[in-house]
Amino acid sequence: MKRFLLAMTACAAQMAAAAIPVLIVDGQNNHKWQETTPVLKRLLEETGKFTVDVSTSPAKGGDFSAYNPDFSKYKVVVSNYSDFAGDPWPEALRKKLTDYVAAGGGFVSFHAADNAFPMDKEYNRMIAVGGWGGRTEKDGPMIRFRDGKMVLESKPGKAGSHGKRLPYVVVTRDAKHPIMKGLPAEWLHHEDELYDSLKGPAENVGLVATAWSDPANRGTGENEPALMTVRYGKGRVFHTILGHDVEAMRCVGFIVTLQRGTEWAATGKVTQKAPKDFPGKEKVSLR
Ligand code: ZN
Repeated sequence: MKRFLLAMTACAAQMAAAAIPVLIVDGQNNHKWQETTPVLKRLLEETGKFTVDVSTSPAKGGDFSAYNPDFSKYKVVVSNYSDFAGDPWPEALRKKLTDYVAAGGGFVSFHAADNAFPMDKEYNRMIAVGGWGGRTEKDGPMIRFRDGKMVLESKPGKAGSHGKRLPYVVVTRDAKHPIMKGLPAEWLHHEDELYDSLKGPAENVGLVATAWSDPANRGTGENEPALMTVRYGKGRVFHTILGHDVEAMRCVGFIVTLQRGTEWAATGKVTQKAPKDFPGKEKVSLR
C-alpha cells in the first residue's frame, strides 16, 4: 500500500510537472463566450496535458485600468475575445500580449478571435489574417490554396464573410505537421461557419488545412484557410476558424485539432494520439 501511494504521489507530481499551463482570455465577444469558454477549458483539461486558467475582462464599457492578466505564467494563451461589438483591449495590454508571443509564448486564435483588434498591426501580424472590423485589402491579401500550393491573393473588398452553418469537409494541406500527423486527409466537420475572404499581413504563415467555400452557400468557390500556423518572432500561433458555438465544438475534428494545436503552440510538439472516433469524409463524428 505504501509503495502504491508513493507511486501515485510520484505520478501526480510528474503529471503536475508535465502539465502545460494555459490561459484562456474572454469577457467580450459577439459570440456566446460564457458558453464556449467552459467547453474550451474542459476539452483541454480532458487530455491530461494542460492546466487551464481563465481571465475574464470587464464587460463592454467597463473600466479596463485594473485588467492586466499575467501571460508570463503560461506557455500558451487561447483567445476567446473579440471587440467586434465591444471594447478593444487597451493598447498597452495588446502590446503585452504580442510581446509575450514574440518572445516565445504560444497563442491560439479561436474562431472569432480573428475578428479582434483590426487596428492593431502587431496583432494582425500574429494571427496572419482576420475578418470584419473594417478590414479590407488595405490590411493585406487573402490566403488561397490553388494547384497544390498556398498562394496569396490581393483583391478589393471587405474581409470576412460566411454562409449558413452547414457541415463542410476540411482537407489537410500539411500532413507532416505535428497537428495533423496520423489524422485522416479529409474529414467532415459538423455544422459551423466557414469564414471566407479573411485578409491580413499573412507573413510566416503555414496552411495546415482548408475548406472549400461553396458558392451555393454564399461562398467564394475557393479553398479557404481553416487551420493555420504562424511564426511570430520566437512564438508559435495556431489559428482555427472553427467553433462558432457549442454545437460546432462537439465535432471530434474540431476537438482534436484544438487540443493538438494548443499543445503545438505551447511546445512545438504534439504528444496526443489520434482518437478512434475521428471523423472521415462521409459522416460527422460528435462527442
Ligand atoms: Zn461565429
